[in-house]
Amino acid sequence: MGAKLKTYLQDPFLNTLYSEIRQAGAIRSISVDLTHQCNLRCIGCYYFSESMDQHPAPEDEAAFDAFIEREKRRGTNFVTVVGGEPTLVLGRLKKIYDNFWMNVATNGLIRIPYDGFENMPIGIAVWGDHDTDRWLRGGNRVDVFERALKNYKDDPRAFWYYTVAPGMAHEIETVVDQCIDNGNYVLFNYYCDITGQGGVLDPAYGFAEVQDTINRMIDKYPDRILTTSYLSYVITTGRLYDQQWGYEVCTSISSDNPVNAARIANGHLYNPHFRAYNADLETTRRCCTGVDRDCSVCYDTWEHFSWIMLNMKKHLRSRQEFTNWLTTMYLFYFINRILDFDTGIERLPEIHRRVGRYAIAAEAVPA
Ligand code: SF4
Ligand code: SF4
Repeated sequence: MGAKLKTYLQDPFLNTLYSEIRQAGAIRSISVDLTHQCNLRCIGCYYFSESMDQHPAPEDEAAFDAFIEREKRRGTNFVTVVGGEPTLVLGRLKKIYDNFWMNVATNGLIRIPYDGFENMPIGIAVWGDHDTDRWLRGGNRVDVFERALKNYKDDPRAFWYYTVAPGMAHEIETVVDQCIDNGNYVLFNYYCDITGQGGVLDPAYGFAEVQDTINRMIDKYPDRILTTSYLSYVITTGRLYDQQWGYEVCTSISSDNPVNAARIANGHLYNPHFRAYNADLETTRRCCTGVDRDCSVCYDTWEHFSWIMLNMKKHLRSRQEFTNWLTTMYLFYFINRILDFDTGIERLPEIHRRVGRYAIAAEAVPA
């Protein structure tokens, strides 16, 4: 392994990415719901579909401050803020920002101010073009996408966390065009049909067309699409070498929660520091996005990032495979501003060029 790595790192581009990541150091992450409340009720929201709001956030600010201090003492250096809608508690969001590397997912209805949040990675959810998004998120009334576009016009902190449903590939280009015309970036996520709506939302529909279209978007906007073809391929196929995605191999599980004891004992890699805190800041749940839900249809992008990132060893067979792993790592570090974002964007076209394009019918890893 050492000799191969040495050979790969003779390539100056790979060497630079690898050295910068090493210098930044390891990530010790948690996720936390800043609030149990939200100003929307989206169809297929993991949060409310499993009653995660039954753990209310403490009203007492001192309890929140104590949580931050506790996690700092434990060595946490990265927080994924989920929820609930974090913009409903901007004061607490600011405290997370001031103490950790972090990112936040928001529905975009309330703008996160610039002052005091200047370098925050803001992932704004969008689930399709205006009609689809209004149907799935806006209760058939509110054009959430339109409001969020206005709120984040030309905002360099903003990337669209675009959740694509399997049967909605035809909408991708028009949504991406609007996000990029708005002066932002795009990171793809994939719809999990938690509430069994079926039809175009059903994962059985397959993601081949979605993957093809994402490949086309990378070709069209190589300096704006934050998803590589490899990352998208791994998420949509659920395949990583000899592993098939699911609970038994998922690396983003709360390590302190007894519900995961058997999973931890099964020998597959997991993130030992990770905890998914409920909004009460005391209890944890199985994982960031689930309590009992079916893991085989979980297509969450951040969880798959972690799956790839922890499985470095599997990617050492060839320089191409190592490139796939290293660029996934580097993307995570620069999207989340652990490494310089603007430098990452300058390198993005080269990253896409080196990763290449994976189609679902093809093999993930060249022989
Ligand atoms: S905005 Fe997020 S937390 Fe709120 S209902 Fe929609 S998916 Fe759930
Ligand atoms: S729902 Fe997804 S993230 Fe949660 S344990 Fe299952 S596979 Fe992992």
